[in-house]
Amino acid sequence: MVLLVTISSCKDRATNETNQDDKKTEKTESAEKSGKDAQESLGFDPAQPMMTELKNGVYQYFQFFTNSLVVVTDEGVLVVDPVNEKRAADMRAEVRKITDKPVVKVVYTHDHFDHARGGQIFKEEGAEFITHQLCSDLLNRDLEKRVVLPDVMYEGDYHRIELGGKYIDLHYLGPNESFCMSVVHMPQDGGLLLGADWHLPGTMLDYHRQYARNMLGQLNTFKAVYDKGLEFDTVISSHSPKSSPEAFEEDYRFHQALFDAVWAGLQEGKSVEELRNTIELPEFKHWRGYENLPDNVDRMAYSIWHGN
Ligand SMILES: [Zn+2]
Repeated sequence: MVLLVTISSCKDRATNETNQDDKKTEKTESAEKSGKDAQESLGFDPAQPMMTELKNGVYQYFQFFTNSLVVVTDEGVLVVDPVNEKRAADMRAEVRKITDKPVVKVVYTHDHFDHARGGQIFKEEGAEFITHQLCSDLLNRDLEKRVVLPDVMYEGDYHRIELGGKYIDLHYLGPNESFCMSVVHMPQDGGLLLGADWHLPGTMLDYHRQYARNMLGQLNTFKAVYDKGLEFDTVISSHSPKSSPEAFEEDYRFHQALFDAVWAGLQEGKSVEELRNTIELPEFKHWRGYENLPDNVDRMAYSIWHGN
């Protein structure tokens, strides 16, 4: 399966602007309508639910270019990121094919509405909603009020959820694509890591999808994953059908190489315009969107001088 570039609205910054929300709704609808066209060009139908068992009872649910994590246990089901109402309903139906147990917990990785909307169906069956405390105000900004507000907001940098003998650990490793991102790590059974928007394997995004991306923060998040010694043999990203520990490590190397090149240039007194025109990073020429490297240079420079 191809590594695809994100076309969802996740990189659109969550704002109070109504027209922004309208755009997101339109995009979701057009994604559904254009499913057939996309199916032909991508080799799969983005509207079609894809439930893949990654580990015993642990599933990746991919639909509309976004992943959720689904953990099925004897004590109920945990879902990470409902995304929107239509998708949550489809996901609920797919879960029903696996188990009769209710969805008892929903985790939000971060505040962006294109990940956090649509949880009402799970709320109605009694699920508890969990996220980092820093997300609470941000989630509350949804003008359409389609985000179920969290019940549990952990503070600090770590929160363990235990459900049916499975551990779902949430690590807050600082700002990256969001100011309140939880890195989801399941330490058992070889280990699994969910890197939401801050990890997009083999892909350089263009400037318009970079607004929320604190490239330096993302680099620090990669570093923290390794510094903390989080172990995993399985990785998923929010918007790619597939990742891997190797693709994750390559993404880390990209962020580091980008930082090194931009930092060195800035220290030599070069302008961002010069850096845009001269930095090449040939190791990553094979990446999708390599032509967007200048935008990534720009965004990294901005992260360095603004701090976010
Ligand atoms: Zn996203």
